[in-house]
Amino acid sequence: MQYVSTRGSAPTLDFAGVTLAGLANDGGLYVPAEWPQFSRDEIASMRGLPYAELAARVMQPFVGDCLTPESLRGLTAKAYGRFAHAAVTPLTQLDERQWLLELFHGPTLAFKDVALQMLGLLFEEFLAREDGTLTIVGATSGDTGSAAIDAVAGLDRVEIFMLHPKGRVSDVQRRQMTTVRAPNVHNIAIDGSFDDAQAMVKRIFADRDVTAKHRIGAVNSINWARLMAQVVYYFAASLQLGGPEREVAFSVPTGNFGDVFAGHVAERIGLPIKRLIVATNTNDILYRALSNGDYSTGTVTPTAAPSMDIQVSSNFERLLFDVGGRDGIALAEQMRGFEASKAMQLTNAQRDGAAALFTSMRADEDDMARAMRWACEDCAEIVDPHTAIGLHAARAVELPHDVPVVTLATAHPAKFPDAVERSTGTRPSLPARVGDLFAREEAYTELPGTYEAVRDHILGHAA
Ligand SMILES: *Cc1c(COP(=O)(O)O)cnc(C)c1O
Repeated sequence: MQYVSTRGSAPTLDFAGVTLAGLANDGGLYVPAEWPQFSRDEIASMRGLPYAELAARVMQPFVGDCLTPESLRGLTAKAYGRFAHAAVTPLTQLDERQWLLELFHGPTLAFKDVALQMLGLLFEEFLAREDGTLTIVGATSGDTGSAAIDAVAGLDRVEIFMLHPKGRVSDVQRRQMTTVRAPNVHNIAIDGSFDDAQAMVKRIFADRDVTAKHRIGAVNSINWARLMAQVVYYFAASLQLGGPEREVAFSVPTGNFGDVFAGHVAERIGLPIKRLIVATNTNDILYRALSNGDYSTGTVTPTAAPSMDIQVSSNFERLLFDVGGRDGIALAEQMRGFEASKAMQLTNAQRDGAAALFTSMRADEDDMARAMRWACEDCAEIVDPHTAIGLHAARAVELPHDVPVVTLATAHPAKFPDAVERSTGTRPSLPARVGDLFAREEAYTELPGTYEAVRDHILGHAA
């Protein structure tokens, strides 16, 4: 399997290459040169497989020759063995047609673990082969940081610098990053928003002063391997609800468009999906883009669902590439225009291509709180604010009544106890597996929100 850049001029790479590269060197994102195909029979034959086995089956064509089937199975067994539920991503029924796919049974209580536990093992495997090292630079709106740090803490060949927007992540999220005391882990709080942090990370990848000394890697969902791992749970949910013979819709609380893009991939490779519902909060650039083609940034408003407080959704570029004719040179031009003016209009091909599978719904804080109360009072389920936004969208969208709607439950409610308590009156408690999070000492560096401050810190502290 070969991978190409969405901006058309970076070298094609194999799976090991894209896993270690992160961002392409033309500023684009890597996508498979073509989509592998699973037939209905092949998909039906996956029914009932343990999650780790299913994962190896779905990932194999994307991995190509870079891992043997046996070694891939070894890695999925190890990654998913760390989850606290035997089903890894269990499905819960809410009413006749609404379902929750619980993606928060990993070590740091959000869906990011599903991909990052796998990514940490892939880094280790591919770096050992070439006796190399990797300096990861990442930006987090909360959950990626903790999941990535858990996945790589203590690894010999990997060092991680994680930027978070100061004061804009929850206490649980921050402590899950800053209380991990391993020599290869560096936490940085910057003055600014998640988008500011993400823009700095993109600059690091293009900064020769840094890349001449260090091989820079990515753990954000710009890394293809993350999206690949997330395709698996769409298969797992569909198979349990009658797929591939029956179409299922998914509602996905969306920020950087990674999780829902994995749903698009699942559909492209053969899984029958009726609709993908892109649920946004009031930071609604994706809602506007998918509703009327207007992809223009506003200012970021902090909400109770911080992992969705994003105005520039990196992975949306992958969708624009795939549904807009796969013309990297034209897309590079379009993205340059966007980066200069912070606004662009989708082409007709991009709009029509996206409309074939995607619908978007926007939830404000009241919609979110109401969905949380509905889950609590009518279904006896406590959901987190991100999941509640997905649930609002799942219940608001118009679909044939025989189509089951699966909302991706992206975080454990105990990651956001204040917001949950405000809406439901119930304060969720942390599961025992996170241990004494509030007793452990924190360590992080505060930096001003300038690129130079961050670059100099990384150059000064990287091994
Ligand atoms: C990261 C995250 C999201 C957004 O996922 P994207 O892949 O960035 O769209 C939603 N909910 C939670 C809890 C998250 O951690």
